[in-house]
Amino acid sequence: MAKKSPNYQKDIGWISPDSVDRLSIGPGAYGVLIRLPRRFQGKIGALGEVSLAPGPYLYLGSAYGSGGLPARLRRHVRADKRPHWHVDHLTIAGTVERIFVLPNGHECDLVDCAFRLPAIHAPVTGFGSSDCRRCTAHLLAIPPDSAALMDAFSLLGVTPLRRGQAGIRRRP
Ligand SMILES: [Zn+2]
Repeated sequence: MAKKSPNYQKDIGWISPDSVDRLSIGPGAYGVLIRLPRRFQGKIGALGEVSLAPGPYLYLGSAYGSGGLPARLRRHVRADKRPHWHVDHLTIAGTVERIFVLPNGHECDLVDCAFRLPAIHAPVTGFGSSDCRRCTAHLLAIPPDSAALMDAFSLLGVTPLRRGQAGIRRRP
């Protein structure tokens, strides 16, 4: 019998961008799955000219400032913003498809974890990691099957917030 392909949101822990308004959690790390519908070509701050093929990308970050994760994720989801961070250029050019959050987590642990998968690579050295001495980049090009990615996180004991779990308020 063919194995049913997993439903990311129900089985694996991704949350959809429309849940962002209902998150009641504090600070932590997060992953944002961004899909570029066409090649991105443009200048991004100190990185200079950046060229990225169409496809799925995972941006890993953390939010420990005021507003915590909800404020940060709302910004990532919005398309009407002036680019400030590297990743803003991609969330404007592409679509945020999925998000996961790790309350109190650290984004560099997620980067380490993701790199254990052979198909992962960092297309632009330094992207999103100007302040980080540990990672090649905080933006990763990922294989189309992101279920494998979430399995890798689970193996390391990272459990993304699941839909319906405490932390996402029900719609009133
Ligand atoms: Zn890092």
